[in-house]
Amino acid sequence: MTDTHAHLDFLEPEELLEVEAHLGELRAVLTLGVDPGRWEKTLALAQGDVHAAIGLHPTSAHLLSPEVEAALRHYARAERVRAIGETGLDYYWTPETKSAQFRALDLQAALAEELGLPLVLHVRSKDGKAEEDLAAWLRLHRPKKVALHAYGGHPALEEAGLEVGAYFSFAGPLTYKKNEALREAARRLPKEKLLVETDTPFLPPEPFRGQRNRPHYVRYTLERLAQVLSLPFSEAEALTDENARVCFGW
Ligand SMILES: [Zn+2]
Repeated sequence: MTDTHAHLDFLEPEELLEVEAHLGELRAVLTLGVDPGRWEKTLALAQGDVHAAIGLHPTSAHLLSPEVEAALRHYARAERVRAIGETGLDYYWTPETKSAQFRALDLQAALAEELGLPLVLHVRSKDGKAEEDLAAWLRLHRPKKVALHAYGGHPALEEAGLEVGAYFSFAGPLTYKKNEALREAARRLPKEKLLVETDTPFLPPEPFRGQRNRPHYVRYTLERLAQVLSLPFSEAEALTDENARVCFGW
């Protein structure tokens, strides 16, 4: 199993011990450091089959300065870094920083291109406006390699993502009872573009809702995906492991 999106630096030391005890179940984990205060720790956590992504989250986009940009460029070149992000648009928590979010997104897309790394995108809004804006941005900028993290099934984003050959990464919500539309989306997307993730410590799958997530809980999302695709678990596992390997190059 591969968890293509976790924030291990958000975990308490005792939680990390539990995660480490289960790392053998995982082929690889991508841990994302999403603001300047988290980059050092994220790189320190990236050992063995744990790889790092360095980026500035849209809710931290207002922190962008020449110094932060220089630091981002520095850490992004570290040996264990396999992606840039997460970046993107978040009008749910921070609609007031929209223009800073676009600046941070453009900058990180350029950096990913320069370093030949995939770009990890986050998007969230109450009314679908961020998803529509990100779809338009994708069509305009056409990043070479891009993963849509915690893909939520917005139609405009599906269309734009397919157009640019994006990877669609499914998190815990794929297991939620009411999300039949998201499972339908997973069924019609190209199999070679499907990824699974946890977004640890957020978005726990069933039956862990209300608790803090862990990378090895990706099993529950993968089990649901296997059912959706009518594949044996081992085939869904091999498929998503290989897709992640091709996307992130580990
Ligand atoms: Zn995240």
